[in-house]
Amino acid sequence: MRLFAIFGNPVAHSRSPLMHNHVFKTLGFKGCYTRIQLEDGSRLRETFFRLGLSGANITVPHKEAAFNACDEIRGFANKVGVVNTIINENGRLIGYNTDADGFMYAIKPFGTIKSVLVLGAGGTAKALSQRFIDEGLEVTITNRSEGRLKEFDNSDCTTVTWEQLETKAYDLIVNTTSAGLNDENLPAPLELLQPLLKQASFAADAIYGKVTPFLKLCAALDLQAKDGSDMLLGQGVLANHYFTDQSYNLEEIELAMKESFSF
Ligand code: NDP
Repeated sequence: MRLFAIFGNPVAHSRSPLMHNHVFKTLGFKGCYTRIQLEDGSRLRETFFRLGLSGANITVPHKEAAFNACDEIRGFANKVGVVNTIINENGRLIGYNTDADGFMYAIKPFGTIKSVLVLGAGGTAKALSQRFIDEGLEVTITNRSEGRLKEFDNSDCTTVTWEQLETKAYDLIVNTTSAGLNDENLPAPLELLQPLLKQASFAADAIYGKVTPFLKLCAALDLQAKDGSDMLLGQGVLANHYFTDQSYNLEEIELAMKESFSF
């Protein structure tokens, strides 16, 4: 039996154990997936090995610490310095990022998107904005604290503080902050957000499993919006593909994982 876990703080809300355990069971893979509340991200590596894990997912706020915990980074994670999936390959930790692909899967139904406003500048914002840039989209990032915006200085996007943010018509506004996850906060002040959402074509929240104040505001303004469930599914399918040594195809993993959303 191989053991997997999700590390985060908070982590009690995470649906990942349910999703991955259901896929393991359905596909007949001998695996068990649990959740670990981790306060200090610098202890990720040591905790991973102490528990004898074969792989892990990493959520808020440890995705950047996870990047540093790895021996080798593969693929898109190299570009963004943010890791959400770790595989134990013969005692070496290999880091991947499946969040950005998960999000692209989620927004497919919105059709063509040319401009995006990203709320937040944490690990998820880094991954998503880089993928948007790679896709040729016009990307603007705003964040509560100015310091974190500096981490985007070398990226091909515009960074603005709340004070500098101008009201214009974005195709998509994405909440990548954790505002609303465990509180009833909006990701930015109402007077700033409301006029932006009024002009936007679509909105998406990375948070799943609850109607956040951001999603409530979108609904009140009649703006088509989706929560983070499809992103969760998309990133989970890709992570599971790594956990199961790429021995099942993505379609069968997706089918099984989707089933777990009805529990
Ligand atoms: P980080 O801790 O790396 O970043 C958090 C960001 O949120 C920072 O920009 C922070 O701003 C901002 N923030 C926190 N609280 C507030 C607030 N009250 N008002 C305004 N801004 C705030 O987190 P992650 O990027 O790892 O995750 C962010 C969210 O995305 C989480 O809710 C997570 O659950 C969700 N997520 C969902 C996924 C899915 O599959 N659906 C996948 C990945 C993430 P500051 O710099 O000022 O502190």
